[in-house]
Amino acid sequence: MRYHSTRSRVHELNAREAVLAGIAPDGGLYVSDALGEKKLDIASLMNKDYRGIAFDVLSVLLDDFTEAELQSAIDKAYWDNFLHPAITPVTRIGNEWLLELYHGPTAAFKDVALQILPQLMASALKGKDTSVQIVTATSGDTGKAALEGFKDVPGIAIAVFYPHGLVSDIQYRQMATQAGKNVRVAAVRGNFDDVQSAVKALFATQSQKFTKSGVLLSSANSINIGRLAPQVVYYFDAYRQLVQKGALKLGDALDFVVPTGNFGDILAGFYAKRMGLPVGRLVVASNANNVLTDFLQSGVYDKNRDFIQTITPSMDILISSNLERMLYYVSEGDTDWVSALMQALRDKGIFRITGERLARLKETFDCGCADDDEALHQIRAAWKDDSRLIDPHTAVALSVARRQVHANPVVVLSTASPFKFSADVYRAITQKTISGGLEAMDALSNYTAVYAPKVLAQLKDEPLRHQAIINIDEIAAFVREGR
Ligand SMILES: *Cc1c(COP(=O)(O)O)cnc(C)c1O
Repeated sequence: MRYHSTRSRVHELNAREAVLAGIAPDGGLYVSDALGEKKLDIASLMNKDYRGIAFDVLSVLLDDFTEAELQSAIDKAYWDNFLHPAITPVTRIGNEWLLELYHGPTAAFKDVALQILPQLMASALKGKDTSVQIVTATSGDTGKAALEGFKDVPGIAIAVFYPHGLVSDIQYRQMATQAGKNVRVAAVRGNFDDVQSAVKALFATQSQKFTKSGVLLSSANSINIGRLAPQVVYYFDAYRQLVQKGALKLGDALDFVVPTGNFGDILAGFYAKRMGLPVGRLVVASNANNVLTDFLQSGVYDKNRDFIQTITPSMDILISSNLERMLYYVSEGDTDWVSALMQALRDKGIFRITGERLARLKETFDCGCADDDEALHQIRAAWKDDSRLIDPHTAVALSVARRQVHANPVVVLSTASPFKFSADVYRAITQKTISGGLEAMDALSNYTAVYAPKVLAQLKDEPLRHQAIINIDEIAAFVREGR
């Protein structure tokens, strides 16, 4: 498949190049007009496992990697580094189904993509005279998942920066204890926006300098096609699991409700639909930062509003980057239009879509939002009624799912282990407050008699390996020092 920017067709490249580059030089995201030309035969997936389906999906979307490269990447990414043999099991909760995406090494769904992206990058680097330096700013979850994915991958080094004192106790420990010869982590004095702006500026000013010394600067964030493609896999695999459980007839439609931030996870569901999966509704679930709910209802995307800090930090986003890809597809590839909308978003913080394009968007996506109180209520209900522990992000999606009428079976994407957000989950269930992430994890585990995942429970015994605290203007030097 050939890829080009959402904002122009001037440069075309193949998937290997797109995976290394991440973002297009004009600021657009890489898309392919061939999406949907090749459909997967659903019946043929029924006797495959997660890895088999991953191979079929990635062979379509990343078709210029060799079969051997894909197979080796898949085997390394989806094995006993996931704590469940099904990788992403589907389980029942009341009338709905949960697609559990949190059994990876950092207990959040970002592992599914970040366990394989480094393998793909390493393959794409073969035969090239360059190495890669990944630089990532994180508000918490992405940083740890990226560190775990890239640790000790040959030819690639990674530096992660997070705002000092502003990540949760558990997130801090996850990053500060990270092992690996090629990893560096620093706390930066400033807030997340400061850190992210500094990292973006680093890309703008230092890329050339790094390239001259044979180093490609790249990022591991969710706009990389190498992160999107692996997320398409679990939509197909969830469908297979439900057919095998007898909960779905082969060929019948399935609805998906997705807790959404940057629009990457739900966009993968749209890709699956284009590739032949019988998808009914794709529901965009938002928290109180409901810019997407408003957009899908009215056609007006307006980020000029108060930023609300919620108990679902991974959805606290007002600029949903991957939506740009959806705008491209809904306009059937009108790059000038996408450019104009993105320009308006940059300049005025607002854009509007109308008519047939809005109608087409509404045909594919439903939407809804739930605030902190509703999420806490849903966590309590899940425990009381179904003896299930769910994390706040999952709870937002489940709230939205249960408020709607569905014509098809419903799968709610469950994006994090409840133990990653122990304090809020404990508070929801017991009405009692405990401060300190590790203490809350123990308390939640004791109260519910459910074990925390090993990767979180063992954090208290791991040595702190990264304790640097730096200023904003020291980020570039910190990256260079490590090389
Ligand atoms: C990143 C994340 C999300 C949002 O996913 P997007 O692809 O950004 O829409 C939801 N829940 C959790 C726990 C996450 O880490």
